[in-house]
Amino acid sequence: MSFLSSRLQDLTAWAQSSSLWYYSVGGGCCADESISVQGCRYDLERFGCLPQAHPEQADLLIVSTAVTEKMAAVILEVYARMPTPKYVMAVGACANSGGAFADRVSYVKARPLDTIIPVDVYVPGCPPRPEAIMDGLIRLQEKIQRKDGHANAP
Ligand code: SF4
Repeated sequence: MSFLSSRLQDLTAWAQSSSLWYYSVGGGCCADESISVQGCRYDLERFGCLPQAHPEQADLLIVSTAVTEKMAAVILEVYARMPTPKYVMAVGACANSGGAFADRVSYVKARPLDTIIPVDVYVPGCPPRPEAIMDGLIRLQEKIQRKDGHANAP
């Protein structure tokens, strides 16, 4: 029985990792790279990733912007509207750490994304190339398949 239960969990994790429908919050230069990875050249749909117009239909939030006070409010609202299980990808130095707009280096108040919501995968770069974003997606899929204790499980 435990074997069957384990197989069922594996199947569920595989299905979740292979159907990551995403909602994207972008601004600044990283958003251009996020948009390009959605185009036909890189073709995220072959990974089962489909863009969504409403957070309620998405299980992956891609954040590719500096997290200023104004953007933090938008991100928190989008995140709250997403159903669980949900996953978060931080794209670029700004989302990862505040980047060039972090408190300590700029008068603009930008903070790391993981200070307002849990982040499952970080994509470094300023800006990251589309290949790096795809690599982040593959790392997230592997993490889900490993059932690796992502922060947003129900
Ligand atoms: S990480 Fe660099 S490229 Fe991305 S939004 Fe910030 S400054 Fe622009």
